[in-house]
Amino acid sequence: MSFESSCDETSVAVIKNGKEILSNIIATQIKSHQRFGGVVPEVASRHHVEEITRCIKLAMDEANVGYEDLDAVAVTYGPGLVGSLLIGIMAAKTVAFAHDLPLIKVNHLAGHIYSANFVSDLKYPFMALLVSGGHTELVLVKAPGEFETLGDTRDDAVGEAYDKIGRVLGINYPAGKKVDQMAAIGNDVFDFPRAMVQEDNLDFSFSGLKSSFINRVHHADQIHEELNKDDLAASFQGAVLDILSNKTFRALKQHPVNQLVVAGGVAANQGLRKRLKEDIEKRNLDMELIFPPLRLCGDNAAMIGAIAQIQYEKGDFADLDLNSDPSLDF
Ligand code: ATP
Ligand code: MG
Ligand code: FE
Repeated sequence: MSFESSCDETSVAVIKNGKEILSNIIATQIKSHQRFGGVVPEVASRHHVEEITRCIKLAMDEANVGYEDLDAVAVTYGPGLVGSLLIGIMAAKTVAFAHDLPLIKVNHLAGHIYSANFVSDLKYPFMALLVSGGHTELVLVKAPGEFETLGDTRDDAVGEAYDKIGRVLGINYPAGKKVDQMAAIGNDVFDFPRAMVQEDNLDFSFSGLKSSFINRVHHADQIHEELNKDDLAASFQGAVLDILSNKTFRALKQHPVNQLVVAGGVAANQGLRKRLKEDIEKRNLDMELIFPPLRLCGDNAAMIGAIAQIQYEKGDFADLDLNSDPSLDF
């Protein structure tokens, strides 16, 4: 059984052999946070407390298992909101202690990457582009559960940038999906900056793009100029895709691999899916492009169960005094 409660989704899953999803219950709190324009940590923790036992029951019912059928309990211990993480950790410890099951502590980011395990057989080494609400990283996965961060964002995460520019367009949090839909309709006519694409490194920066977007919209407001919102979205997404594509293929040139995994909430982006597929074809690369199914791109406990299987096989177990690590990275 696996638990995920790092942010605003309470999720419990039952996974067989790290490969087969028997159940994956996701209780989202988005509605409670929307009126604040983002996740309110205290509100999130309270929701997790209210939801978690219900999620356990639903996950076990749907998987048709009892506690005696479980082999281990896995839980996200970071990165994320401390109060939110602690609810999942307490629940996991309780199940592990009460039923004498080993406890496995999982890195949420590793979980995102291993959501790909449900769609393909991962072959090492492989490259992962992790694009989520709090992270934008290029990660080389050298062996099962062995990660090396090659590049990282120097400021905002890409999902965060989507949410912030979405707010200026009057879109509810989280804005990524809607901006993606608008971008498909609009045209890339505004010339937004593509930060750091000339630089020979694998790092990202999105705060300049975000500011440039917000300034352009505010300037138009001041002079009562009407801007086409779909074109704004398309231009923002055009810049994002150029940056992500540039750095990803730079990384692949340095580390040629047979598989590219794209994971995290922003991996749901249709423009990104299309762009990377075209880029691979254009370059004639014999490389498998792996996107998790949409429902496994956002936060969920199934992905936590996938990486936990590797840790289980290695005997990598946690003690019952496990604490959260809100700023955990690889
Ligand atoms: P992290 O995983 O870094 O701790 P998180 O768990 O909050 O952060 P995720 O749940 O993985 O992040 O992803 C949520 C983000 O994905 C939000 O910023 C949301 O706007 C973005 N997102 C979702 N769908 C899309 C889409 N189609 N296009 C762009 N962004 C999207
Ligand atoms: Mg979320
Ligand atoms: Fe996440």
